[in-house]
Amino acid sequence: MKVYKIKIDKKKCIGCGSCESICPESFFLEKGKANVKKEKKEKITCEEEAKNSCPTGAISIESN
Ligand code: SF4
Repeated sequence: MKVYKIKIDKKKCIGCGSCESICPESFFLEKGKANVKKEKKEKITCEEEAKNSCPTGAISIESN
């Protein structure tokens, strides 16, 4: 079974909100930093687009 691990590098995140607006099912902002709702997912949809939209490259998605 394929599992995707979604992570935010909080040091790189500038809190622009792009990931949250593109993919609110997986990302939310709190205290000016992005967070992941569920770190492991079997399927990803908007997460890849959110990752590509991040201006600082703070989002990483790994899969097995
Ligand atoms: Fe942070 Fe990147 Fe999300 Fe912007 S798109 S809030 S910089 S993780």
